[in-house]
Amino acid sequence: MELTWVAVAGAFLLASFVKGTTAMGFPLIATPMVAMLVDINTFIRPRLYIMDAIEAMEGNGPRSGHPRAMNFLLFSTDPVALDSIACRMIDLNPEFVPTSKPGEQAGLGTYHYENIELLGDSLDSFIVKDFLVERSPPVHNAGGRLRGFLRNRLTPRPVIDPDLCDRCGTCIAICPVGSTALDWMRHEAGKVPRLDYNRCIRCYCCQETCPRGAVTVRSPLLGRLVFRK
Ligand code: SF4
Ligand code: SF4
Repeated sequence: MELTWVAVAGAFLLASFVKGTTAMGFPLIATPMVAMLVDINTFIRPRLYIMDAIEAMEGNGPRSGHPRAMNFLLFSTDPVALDSIACRMIDLNPEFVPTSKPGEQAGLGTYHYENIELLGDSLDSFIVKDFLVERSPPVHNAGGRLRGFLRNRLTPRPVIDPDLCDRCGTCIAICPVGSTALDWMRHEAGKVPRLDYNRCIRCYCCQETCPRGAVTVRSPLLGRLVFRK
């Protein structure tokens, strides 16, 4: 399922939780994005948020994920609650969604299940426990060396599959950091691009835009141990 808060469209959808991109993944760079989403929603205050999950996306989204029939629609005046219920339907702790706590603190709603009033069908028949989604808490920005340490050891990183990569260079063109993070790295164009994880900010644009689905996002060993994945 692709969850992202989209204030303009009137829905909070959190891209960070498609498996690859914890998007929305995105944990280490999440803080400015979260603040922006909360600010926009606080300013615009949409009257109704809608999540269409008749057919959701799981796995390596938002571009290379797989469709998964979930067969539900959610409507809410509370975007935080809407995301919280969506999390429940995929057996995901809503506190792992970077916008849950800041959204609640900003007065946009609540992610606490006991405070949410549900109308309509029972949730139980919709819950998909094996939904492929990143299940780790957000790691917010830290400063200096600590940030680098956390990023390199805990945060999922993009990895290129040389067998799938057709050397098109799309990822290099889209990388916001530029050639210091992702480039041919003095190799001739025509070889698989190389990543410098000390420069990469984990925006996952390369993963999103790769037309071949050659970029996946994988957690380092320590991250898997810490988050038990
Ligand atoms: S966008 Fe994908 S296929 Fe193209 S060079 Fe990058 S990793 Fe390879
Ligand atoms: S994740 Fe972002 S910063 Fe890192 S290599 Fe990919 S596009 Fe560049």
